[in-house]
Amino acid sequence: MSDPIASPPARSPGTLIAARRVITDPERAPLEHGGVLLRDGVVAAVGPAQELERTAGPVDHLEFPLGTVIPGLINAHVHLSFDVTTDPRIALEAGDLDAVRATIAANARAALDGGVTTARDLGDLAGLVAEFEERAASGSAAGPRVLSARSPLTPPGGHCWFLGGEIDTGGGDAERGLRAAVDERAEAGADVIKIMASGGDLTPAGAPRWKSQFDERDLAIVVEAAHARGLPVAGHAHGTEAMAQCARAGVDTIEHGSWQAPSGADGEARHDLSAEVAELVAASGAAIVPTRARGWETWPAEAGLDLQLRKLAWDAEHGIPLVAGNDAGVGVGYFDDLVDTLTLFAAAGWSPQQALATATTRAAAALGRADHIGRLDVGHSADLVVLDADPLADLRALKAVRLVVVRGRQHLPTAAS
Ligand SMILES: [Zn+2]
Repeated sequence: MSDPIASPPARSPGTLIAARRVITDPERAPLEHGGVLLRDGVVAAVGPAQELERTAGPVDHLEFPLGTVIPGLINAHVHLSFDVTTDPRIALEAGDLDAVRATIAANARAALDGGVTTARDLGDLAGLVAEFEERAASGSAAGPRVLSARSPLTPPGGHCWFLGGEIDTGGGDAERGLRAAVDERAEAGADVIKIMASGGDLTPAGAPRWKSQFDERDLAIVVEAAHARGLPVAGHAHGTEAMAQCARAGVDTIEHGSWQAPSGADGEARHDLSAEVAELVAASGAAIVPTRARGWETWPAEAGLDLQLRKLAWDAEHGIPLVAGNDAGVGVGYFDDLVDTLTLFAAAGWSPQQALATATTRAAAALGRADHIGRLDVGHSADLVVLDADPLADLRALKAVRLVVVRGRQHLPTAAS
């Protein structure tokens, strides 16, 4: 007599997604009339749809005769706990953790609606983002995979101190504080260590954007401690000096990378596109995650668009890898419009293939996850997006998301359902 409890679980039949075009890697030729077989949360096969139909056995079928399938998008710089206003500090400082939880859930859903299947969160309060990730991973909440830095390392009263990551770098024992901060995050399950190498806008009383907050030795200690734990380091650096310090210390990604010089006596922002620093960053292998894009098509040239394009072209000319990330959560960046970042890259001279790679293959490589996400390949996570049109013909096709699959789970975008 068979015991139903002891019998092995039925093998998931899997889902075969067929489309007019399948882009497995934006920088390789697409598969025309392609198919992707998903099973148990991973890609089980990729190939011509007809061939997969013959060999897949009994599976669920989803067909998009006019659609294009792409790898799930990666947003390398978000803040899920921020409320998408120009001053997210206000809600966080109010200390209502349930309100912050609700913000995280809403932002995660918006990211998924926009085709983002991996979001790297670079600044969180009280581990609430990591708590959400557990729910998303188990399927009890809709959201992308979240790679979390937890609270960013900053000096007392420094940039984003209100996220709880203040390190006492005074008193001659900065090293112990920095190492303890890395260890504490590693043990709590952080996926990346974030350090605020320069000041920023969200902290009015803190250091200005261009100014370094740590010395190079402190940054090097953090990099060494994080790498020893197998964790990459993201260095927030608006200033050219802080970018150079980050590169010399060996951080893995430079966040913002705004090439800012000390402000003039009139307080006006100045910029220093230093060739020496660009060469240093390129030689270090660090990628830059520039983060300003929302609505860029309406920015007047003289109000920043020209400069922004010049900086992006400057990075590319020097061979610095660029990765898509939009600081979603802060007023300038929203969760469902990573496409604005890609069209901005295209305006600065990238091909659609290269632009899409900054949110897929190239992003996965910069985040140290190329063996698992960023491409549609056998054994990779079943993360994909079905679009109505081909983004390699026009990147704005990324605005018409039909279906998102993350870890093999299907999600219908709010606008499409
Ligand atoms: Zn940020």
